[in-house]
Amino acid sequence: MAKILVVEDEPAIAESIAYFLRRDGFAATVATTLAAAEREVDRADLIILDLMLPDGSGFDLIGQVRRSAARAAIIVLSSRDSEADRVAALETGADDYVTKPFSPREIVARVRAVLRRAAPPPPAKPAAAAAPLPLAVDEATRRAHVNGQKIDLTRVEFDLLACMLAAPGRVFTRAQLIDRVWGDGFAITDRTIDSHVKGLRKKVVEAGGDADLIETVRGVGYRVTDRPSTSGGSGD
Ligand code: CA
Repeated sequence: MAKILVVEDEPAIAESIAYFLRRDGFAATVATTLAAAEREVDRADLIILDLMLPDGSGFDLIGQVRRSAARAAIIVLSSRDSEADRVAALETGADDYVTKPFSPREIVARVRAVLRRAAPPPPAKPAAAAAPLPLAVDEATRRAHVNGQKIDLTRVEFDLLACMLAAPGRVFTRAQLIDRVWGDGFAITDRTIDSHVKGLRKKVVEAGGDADLIETVRGVGYRVTDRPSTSGGSGD
């Protein structure tokens, strides 16, 4: 049973999240202060984290978790108008975020998705192999495919796609993409990233893929889909 730590100083919100998590079979603990949360961090598989706490900032907890051996997954609760907080949280090491006001159902769905991505791959039965993703790259040959069809990408387009495919479904901020594709010290603007992604998406569409295989997450960045390919047929 996955252990979820809910860090939120508004008791009504915290208890409602915990209630829905327990109903869905999770073990949920509530901490209403940063100090209480810090004592529980090592026992949690996933932390739902409000950033504004009475005795400090949730950002401090993200840092502590990322330095700890346990490395719980983190979903940040943010208010609708704090885009900067969301971006900073993802860059500090949060796995996902949910915008207030949210429904408890949405939280439970995010928790499941994040735990699925964080879990080590199960000892797979060969018969139950996961369905292939629509987008694929081979780093060794630097070939890229959409639904089994080869696409010709520029170096940057390939590196962007490979970076995002390392964690399908995860949101990458533009700063993270710049960091990983160009490296430190390059003055790449957000608009440059956007135009490379646009080019990449255009090639995906021209090869018969859906435009939303590479999704724009407004105010944050980009992600590639983690839904398996539905257009069957490429039986390689
Ligand atoms: Ca708060």
